[in-house]
Amino acid sequence: MDTVSSTLARATRLMKDAGLADSPSLDARLLLCAVMDVSQEQLLARWHTEVPEEASQRFAAMLSARLAATPMAYILGWREFYGRRFHVDERVLIPRPDTETLIEAALAWIQEHSLEAPDIADICTGSGAVGITLALELPSSRVALTDISASALEVATENAMRLGAGNIRLYQGDVTEPVASESFDIVVSNPPYLTPHWYSHVEAQVLKEPRLALVGGDDGLTIIRRLVVGARSVLAPEGALFLECDWRQCDEVARIMERCGFAQTWIYNDLAGRPRVVRGNGICM
Ligand code: GLN
Repeated sequence: MDTVSSTLARATRLMKDAGLADSPSLDARLLLCAVMDVSQEQLLARWHTEVPEEASQRFAAMLSARLAATPMAYILGWREFYGRRFHVDERVLIPRPDTETLIEAALAWIQEHSLEAPDIADICTGSGAVGITLALELPSSRVALTDISASALEVATENAMRLGAGNIRLYQGDVTEPVASESFDIVVSNPPYLTPHWYSHVEAQVLKEPRLALVGGDDGLTIIRRLVVGARSVLAPEGALFLECDWRQCDEVARIMERCGFAQTWIYNDLAGRPRVVRGNGICM
């Protein structure tokens, strides 16, 4: 039988040798905590105790998944976003901390404009992280979530139920199509925006995520162009569109919005200080 300490040491070494994880010792600890159902503090307190057989077997299975480049979030089955745990698996993109910029930008706008009960649409919702977060932060809002992937919507539905977001509706379909007859104060989206070239350079673990959620056509902007056109027609005159994209695309995305009839655009930086979210508002009638 192996102790907590020897199990962690061996797993950390294997992950380092595989050259995969950015933080092999943390990953090893998190996996062992998950199989032993303990916190990191409790794990430290058991440093020299043996890992029970059943936990040891489950740990071995998780470790081999990690060594095969499966993201930690898929192995653990969750990722934290804006302070809440979202269930994630291979059906959906894993929420990134950078996407919290989208939440902050939309919440600030809603507050500045004193929107008491905004109608919000989250397009290409995936796990539902963006739309469900807004629904929970703004209990008087009504939030429509759309995704082209039926299996992604299953995950979003599960997250909405687990987190108790009753003020949402889910629709399957391409970008804004399923909500074309509705009207919104806010449209938010973290759509697929990588170019096929960028995608060919992503880390091995990103390749485990749905390609559909990452690549935005030949130049990365195909979905964004459709989304801007769709958003313009479902937004109320005073409404605003918030789109996440890559820092290299923000200026072009702002130009796309302007060409499409958004008189004003604004770019927000992410946690790393890089341009990340573009807002369009002031729709010309
Ligand atoms: N930021 C993500 C990445 O670089 C891409 C997310 C997206 O395409 N929406 O992996």
